[in-house]
Amino acid sequence: MSHVVVIEDEGTVRDVLRFHLERAGLRVSAFETTRDAGEALKDADALVLDWMLPGESGLSFLRYLRSDSELRRLPVLMLTARAAEAERVEGLETGADDYLTKPFSAAELVARVRALLRRAQPDTPQNMANGPLLINVGSAEATINTKQLNLTRREFDLLSFLTQNAGRVYSRTELLDRVWGADFLGGERTVDQHITQLRSHLGDDPSKPSFLETVRGKGYRMRVWNTEHREAETLAT
Ligand code: CA
Repeated sequence: MSHVVVIEDEGTVRDVLRFHLERAGLRVSAFETTRDAGEALKDADALVLDWMLPGESGLSFLRYLRSDSELRRLPVLMLTARAAEAERVEGLETGADDYLTKPFSAAELVARVRALLRRAQPDTPQNMANGPLLINVGSAEATINTKQLNLTRREFDLLSFLTQNAGRVYSRTELLDRVWGADFLGGERTVDQHITQLRSHLGDDPSKPSFLETVRGKGYRMRVWNTEHREAETLAT
């Protein structure tokens, strides 16, 4: 699970940040001042940093981070109430990776933080998302709307493979080959059994699946979560 540190002196804003980032499946440590955040930063994957802080300003702290040998690569999203272009530019030039102007929407916040995390780890995909489904490759955890799925290792591998290649259809033979490995002795029914299990974990209705679709005569595919899904979901709630 990716770890996001938040430094924001206003309690209400801090709570909002924590709430939305945790709901997005991230681990969050939130602090009031830059000094309090010191220890947590060593283990952080990204930092959400308020510009206007009492004592040391966010900008000054960012300058320090960029000169620190261990923290210089930490992705930073600056939060600012300042919409003035000159100040945004100053933040970016000092080394912020992105900035967000208050007030911001939850969706925008989460999208920006996820983009930071992705850019920071281009080689090993730590997180994959498909709608409410989040997969953390590093920790081998999958969640739906932040609720953790209790998967076996093989179920997790199958789910990860299909999610990583969402939209593509794979035959049972291909899945055996790619997920189980060429020397696996079981048959194609193994794949069907695992898909059935996964559907039950995902709460997926086989006749109208949100995630795992059976493509007749071909195999299985992870559906790409799109606007249609979201509209259907909104109507249903
Ligand atoms: Ca502030």
